[in-house]
Amino acid sequence: MSILSINCGSSSLKYQLYDWDAQKVLSSGLIDRIGFPDSNIVHKYSGQKTERKDRCADHRTAIHLVLDFLLQEAKLIHSLKDIEGVGHRIVHGGVNFSASARIDDAVLQEIKDNEDLAPLHTPPNVVGIESARALMPDTPQVAIFDTAFHQTMPEYAHAYALDYELAKKYKIRRYGFHGSSHRYVSERAGELLGNKAGLKLIIVHVGNGSSLSAVQDGKCLDTSMGLTPLAGVIMGTRTGDIDPAVVQFLVRKTGGSVDEIMARLNKESGMLGISGVSSDQREILSGAAQGDARCQLALQMQAYSVKKYIGAYVAALNGADAVIFTAGIGENSPDFRAAVCAEMDYLGLAIDAEKNQARSGEPRVISAPQSRVKIMVIPTNEEFIIARDVIELVRGV
Ligand code: AMP
Repeated sequence: MSILSINCGSSSLKYQLYDWDAQKVLSSGLIDRIGFPDSNIVHKYSGQKTERKDRCADHRTAIHLVLDFLLQEAKLIHSLKDIEGVGHRIVHGGVNFSASARIDDAVLQEIKDNEDLAPLHTPPNVVGIESARALMPDTPQVAIFDTAFHQTMPEYAHAYALDYELAKKYKIRRYGFHGSSHRYVSERAGELLGNKAGLKLIIVHVGNGSSLSAVQDGKCLDTSMGLTPLAGVIMGTRTGDIDPAVVQFLVRKTGGSVDEIMARLNKESGMLGISGVSSDQREILSGAAQGDARCQLALQMQAYSVKKYIGAYVAALNGADAVIFTAGIGENSPDFRAAVCAEMDYLGLAIDAEKNQARSGEPRVISAPQSRVKIMVIPTNEEFIIARDVIELVRGV
């Protein structure tokens, strides 16, 4: 049986069709520029890629287009009954969702109630759920929250040092994101390292968006993103941690509104802002190799910001058994991993240069034999977590 996962952004929809029994992605795709006359429609399946432009008026039409494609063009399903469940990736689960949830009216209402916490992401997430429910009323729908894995953080780690009552009233706290990735990677690491009691892991998820987490016994103790994904390490286009007074300073200096400044912090900063070249790590690496000083600076700042979080999490965990790299940059860039792990011998990290360079899509250890802390690369697999949660909630296993 297949699981359809759906990720609705403000003007886009990403999907995957996952064959649970074969444990593989049958098809994936993206419809973006929803609501524009020239929406971009991309499907990938059986090693092929189709791409076309067409008008896609809204998210409901987008889901319709995906189902039509799966049924009629790719013939990956014969009827909608072949889809056992639909998993919706939901950015913000607020304080009440510490696990995925089967969607009923009450769950949907609670997701809507959290809209203030993610005002850009929640409305399209809700439209995705409502459209899928309307088109597939007999198919179970499940919400998978980016924040859920981090709900185990103790209060001293997730609370901000604001006025306590004010923070409680508006639910202002660290939530953390990329939860399905941190969960997958920590589970895989646990299996590979023998699941010993007290296992301490530092997960380094660095892609276009980036976050670290400190995990003990499979539970998240701390994570670098906060109320929103803007906090933490330097990212493709996001600043990561900066002094919040910068916002007021820029409002005064530029005359821009708070919203405009926040958009710049989210979309025009980070690796893109520093390098002035791109948010794409490969372009920055190639710029740096050609001697571009700002690309070189961007790479130095990125590695330094990740290094500082690793140091902080070693302190928070009182040690670490493994530091694990994942996501686009963490999995694929030996230069990034080498820069982060350089001169960390005091903390017991010693990378093996040769193992670090070896290319593989498999989980692997890249530390030297004498390294006190294992350094690993584990490719993330959020699709697996989504499909598994749907299966568990639908089949009750
Ligand atoms: P993600 O958001 O996890 O898909 O990661 C996207 C980021 O991974 C982009 O900045 C890519 O440039 C980067 N990336 C992908 N492949 C490589 C590679 N071989 N070397 C360096 N960066 C890579």
